[in-house]
Amino acid sequence: MPKIAVERRDQVRLAVLPPLALYVHIPWCVRKCPYCDFNSHERAGELPEREYVARLIADLEGLLPSVWGRRLGSVFIGGGTPSLFSPESIDELLAAVRARLPLEPGAEVTLEANPGTVEAARFQGFRAAGVNRISLGVQSFDDRRLAALGRIHSAAEALRGVEAALASFDNVNIDLMYGLPNQDVTQAQSDIRQAIACGVPHVSAYQLTLEPNTAFYRRPPQLPPHDACADMQRMVEDTLAAAGFEHYETSAFARPGRRCRHNLNYWEFGDYLGIGAGAHGKVSFPDRVTRHERIKQPAQYLKSEITVAAERTVRVEELAFEFMLNALRLVEGFPVSLFEERTGLPLAALQEKLEKAERDGLLERDWRRIRPTERGRLFLNELLERFL
Ligand code: SF4
Repeated sequence: MPKIAVERRDQVRLAVLPPLALYVHIPWCVRKCPYCDFNSHERAGELPEREYVARLIADLEGLLPSVWGRRLGSVFIGGGTPSLFSPESIDELLAAVRARLPLEPGAEVTLEANPGTVEAARFQGFRAAGVNRISLGVQSFDDRRLAALGRIHSAAEALRGVEAALASFDNVNIDLMYGLPNQDVTQAQSDIRQAIACGVPHVSAYQLTLEPNTAFYRRPPQLPPHDACADMQRMVEDTLAAAGFEHYETSAFARPGRRCRHNLNYWEFGDYLGIGAGAHGKVSFPDRVTRHERIKQPAQYLKSEITVAAERTVRVEELAFEFMLNALRLVEGFPVSLFEERTGLPLAALQEKLEKAERDGLLERDWRRIRPTERGRLFLNELLERFL
């Protein structure tokens, strides 16, 4: 049984460190959606905004020694529902970030928001605080689907939310879901068409899946059959392509020049600091790649002196798989040189696996890039397992 050569190396050697990003997790929502397996918690009364921002800043300070001299290419404030925080809190947070870690000129700063929790004045406040991109959790523009998903907003509120976001930001993403209870292809297409008509430059379209530890997993709703979901996926890709959107990652579509830089950094196996309850991070050093994780429960995160839940060096044998897990989500794949640049391992070590995946029609490559074929994208898990 042939073994890949990476298993013989016990240390990585990175010639250059990857770009660095910052993820900030704000873990509260108005209500927990029945399909959601994120670290999000229904808020009970007033949110401890001041204490939480202070804790986030302390958390960031603890991570600074691992990234001295580096700059942030992007910041992503996600959740949960970060738009529940006031613009003043977001301003305090971003000012503190800028004071501790320089942002590259033109750095992308995204805030996730949910319709029903934001109106025009609040968006203007976020803009003034330094946010320059909004990601709006719309999910559907159909009241029946929204009710089935347990969302707090209506279709009219979703439209108002998108309009208000576009009044303050030119860089706006809409999250949509398809494969919803009792949905057919025509209904799913009407959501996609509505998103296009709104004029947003970025759409993320996810198929609804039943994740463990969710209300839907315990009491599953009637979902469309597998074939119908596959038809919906093709319809999503075709409809957005016909409208001029580039399909650049499994679920992400953007107008030219509007790809999400923060997410691209994950998929290109870049580095990121993760602060906030349950946040994850990845930091590279010349001789190793490390991962860190914060305490998950917000109450415990707030009161603990030490917020780190876990920290480890990624084993050399895991690096190739972790890289592929991310980079093969990209429709255009990745430059051949990126593998060695980000993992510190020679690509030659994967030669056999690459050749086999190519022979099986899952991958294609030339001297510049390696990319999944259409079949590889359709059977992404099967392709990824090849690199385990
Ligand atoms: S609003 Fe988003 S993060 Fe919050 S519970 Fe619903 S899906 Fe999860």
